[in-house]
Amino acid sequence: MRGASLNDESPSDHATPGRGAAQSAVPVLMYHSVRADPPPATRALSVHPDRFAAQLDALLELGLTPVPFGALVAHWRDGVELPARPVVLTFDDGYADFHTEVLPRLVERGLSASLFVTTGWLADAAPADRAGRPLDATLCWSQLKEIEAAGIETGGHSHSHAALDAVRADALGDELARCRDLLEDRLGRAERVFCYPFGYSDAQVRAAVRARGWTGACAVANTLARPGQGPYALARLTIRRRTDAAAFRRLAQGVGVTRHYLADRALTKGYAVVRRTRGSLTPIRTRERDRP
Ligand SMILES: [Zn+2]
Repeated sequence: MRGASLNDESPSDHATPGRGAAQSAVPVLMYHSVRADPPPATRALSVHPDRFAAQLDALLELGLTPVPFGALVAHWRDGVELPARPVVLTFDDGYADFHTEVLPRLVERGLSASLFVTTGWLADAAPADRAGRPLDATLCWSQLKEIEAAGIETGGHSHSHAALDAVRADALGDELARCRDLLEDRLGRAERVFCYPFGYSDAQVRAAVRARGWTGACAVANTLARPGQGPYALARLTIRRRTDAAAFRRLAQGVGVTRHYLADRALTKGYAVVRRTRGSLTPIRTRERDRP
């Protein structure tokens, strides 16, 4: 990711617990799908349900407390308190397996998370609202209501899953306005948090997200989230199907993050590709981590 800083070898201030203490670095974990048998398009970023359950149990064992992404934004924006050892679980795109695989495992452990929804991808989007091509089965509106009622935060992930830094200004406005309006109208609450498709944003995108009322947004970057990144570019850590138990425990505690992603990058095919931005002709996007 552009602007990523890889200087977080030291453990986060998880080592100094204490409710009310200001957090200077927090792991924000990025998931997409949790499925035993995912399609090829999402496989690398789809975690096996058994492994996901073990990851949740590891968080509890380590004494970490999952908080919604919006709570982290509010902590750094407004000084709202967080539990002593926070971690954030985020899920992108709105795949149907969130309802069948993720939600029950969160609920049985009393854990919270944030789900970022591509509104044009939803299974029962009105014909006029359908946009983009989801990579797997997606949630429907009634499931989103159920998910919110279970205490899970939902937020925007654009309308068609466009790379927002590569679309024209009018399309950018449309992607954001349709996403926000649909979520607010159908779920009956104000939108708070946003997540850039593919993690891509630039100053124009961040300003547009802010102008439409979102209080914070997350990118990818594979480094710990820190207040200095600003509320509209908070970093997340990619959790892959191949992320093993030892790596997961380190990442969730904010330890060895740089080392992990250097090795991860070497393992990830097609990492070094040309990344074109707004105004260029032929976007090329083949990085495995960015596909969904
Ligand atoms: Zn996405």
